[in-house]
Formats: sequence, C-alpha cells, structure tokens
Amino acid sequence: MRPNIYVTRSLPQPALDKMKEAGFDFDVFPEDRVIPHDIFLKEVENRDGILCILTDTINKDVFDKAREAKIFANYAVGYNNIDIEEASKRGIAITNTPGVLTDATADLAWALLFASARRIAESDLFLREGKFEGWGPQLLMGQEITGKTLGIIGLGRIGRAFAQRAAAFRMKIQYFSNSRNEEFEKSYPYETKFVNLDKLLSTSDFVSLHVPLKPETTHLIGERELKLMQPHAILINTARGPIVDEAALVKALSEKWIWSAGLDVFEKEPKVHPDLIKLPNTVLLPHLGSATIETRTKMGLIAVQNLVEFFDGKSPTNLVNTNFLKNK
Ligand code: NAP
Repeated sequence: MRPNIYVTRSLPQPALDKMKEAGFDFDVFPEDRVIPHDIFLKEVENRDGILCILTDTINKDVFDKAREAKIFANYAVGYNNIDIEEASKRGIAITNTPGVLTDATADLAWALLFASARRIAESDLFLREGKFEGWGPQLLMGQEITGKTLGIIGLGRIGRAFAQRAAAFRMKIQYFSNSRNEEFEKSYPYETKFVNLDKLLSTSDFVSLHVPLKPETTHLIGERELKLMQPHAILINTARGPIVDEAALVKALSEKWIWSAGLDVFEKEPKVHPDLIKLPNTVLLPHLGSATIETRTKMGLIAVQNLVEFFDGKSPTNLVNTNFLKNK
C-alpha cells in the first residue's frame, strides 16, 4: 500500500514532483491560503502522514482525528506550532527543515537592519508622496552601521550566519545564548563577547533575535528589557513574534526608548498591532525570512525526504522528537 499523505498548502513544484517519484498517494489543499482548521481536521483522517506548515496548529484535537498518521513533516525549522510532547506520547514522528533556510533568513535580518538603520521604507514613501524637494543636510538621517556593536540573542545556525555577515562592517559582536561558542569567537575577526541578556541589551547598538519560541523565550523582550536598551538602538526580530511583547514594543517605539524596530514576525500573526503600522520607525514584513525561490524549494525537498526516509523504515534525518524512537 502506498503511503497516503495530506499536504496542507501548495509547495514549490519540485517538492510535489518528489512526492510523486516517491510513490506517495497525496492530496494538497487546493487554495492558496491557510487551511481552515475544520477542513484540516476532516482531511487528516485516514492519512498515513501529514506535510504541514508553520501556520497549522498541530495539537491534541488534530492527533485525535489523525489516528492513522505516524508522521507530521513540518515545512519550517521552527516547530512551535506542534505539540511535541503530545506527539511523542503517541509515538508520532515530527520532522523539520533546518539548515537550508539559514542563509536566506540571516540575509533578511540584515535587510531589516539596513532598512531600519537607514530609514529605507520611510524614505521611499517620503519620495513617492512627492515630499523630496532637494538634498538636505539633515534630511532623513539614520544610524551608522560600520564599526558598531551588534547584539545577537541565540547564537545557533541563523544567529551565527547573521554574525558572520557583520565582519564586512567591522562590527563588534556580543551574544547571549544557551552556551558559549568559543569556536565562533575564534573565527570572528573583530571583538566578540559572550554576555548576559541585560548587558547585551544595555550596550548594543543593534539587537537581533534568533532564539526559538518556547515557554522560556515567550516575551523574553518585554517592557523591562526594552527600557534597558539605548535610545539609538534598533531591535530586529526574524525569529518568532511572541518572543517580543508587542504592546511593550509599541510603547518603546512611541516614547522613543529605542530608535526603531525591523520585524518579520508578529505576536498574533497574521494580525499586526495597529500602532506598529502607524509608527514611522518600524519596518514590517509579512514573515518572509526563508522566502527565496531556492530556499523554499529546498525546504520542500527536505520535508518530502523526511517522509521518504520514514516510510522506508529509517529514522528521518530531521527528526525533532528523538524520544519518539524510545516509544517505538
Ligand atoms: P537553532 O540553530 O536551534 O538556534 C537557536 C539558538 O538559540 C541556539 O543557539 C540555542 O542554544 C539558543 N537558545 C535556545 N533557547 C534559548 C534560550 N532560552 N536562551 C538563550 N538562547 C537560547 O535554530 P535556527 O535554525 O538558528 O532558527 C532559529 C529560529 O529562527 C527558529 O526556531 C525559527 O523560529 C526562526 N526562523 C524564522 C524564520 C522566518 O521566516 N522569519 C525562518 C527560519 C527560522 P542551544 O542550541 O544550546 O539550545
């Protein structure tokens, strides 16, 4: 019997071709929008596996309906949309797509840093609105980037790729992460320091978030933390929205505790706090971290590869809940 898979959103064609080559029977949610939860609950019944995306909430209700499903292959590196503990209890494998989206996401964090520091979106709008009446010594002045101090929270794959790019701008790096990375410190050509969170926030010119969303990182950046930051500092978030308390961020940006923020992710995505949209000192993107043709294609191929390995009886390369194996 060919494994029967449900795919919750259309993926780049090479990934769907690989599903066919692998001999899977599969259906894809036919509309280009987030699958409504009630439809999702019906579609997962009698499937052997699910290829899902980060906007699908995979909880107890889903597992109750998806009684036959033995694997959920998430099309993302983050898996905060999945109740991993419940999956492990039930012996369901969860996989993700790490690594291939590292460079694209690090690049986008830099795009946000540049856009925020040099007021790119605001300046573009200024010109389009016909307000440009000639060069001015104090027109739309931003923050210098070269030689400044970059604070990185979460020095994992994306945090390190983001850090490596800072060498081109002769920046000093300080980072806060679960553990110190001496190899990185040796390889970076300018000053690096492993510091605590408060020190990082109070002494960095730019702060970029690269930790996963977990209970302990939810609202890691709230009012107290934003108040520690310098008035000229810029916050970049390409990790996950709920890591930042969005109401506190609005206050910080309105009352100028910090200079600006560049955000790819939001606390109640796809809703964005209405005041963030009104503020000129924000650059806001609709969750595009990994959105390059090359990366999104590779993510699809890896998600399918995880399914292939699983149904071949192997442990998938990107198995997230390794304790699932213990339950087998
Ligand atoms: P990763 O390699 O696992 O890196 C995460 C880093 O954060 C690790 O160094 C980890 O340390 C550290 N960390 C975890 N919990 C921490 C805590 N409580 N305090 C301090 N440091 C902590 O993951 P990645 O591939 O770089 O991805 C990072 C996140 O980016 C993903 O989880 C995802 O949410 C987000 N992301 C967003 C987009 C987008 O489209 N905007 C795209 C890709 C990824 P240990 O390894 O020692 O635990």
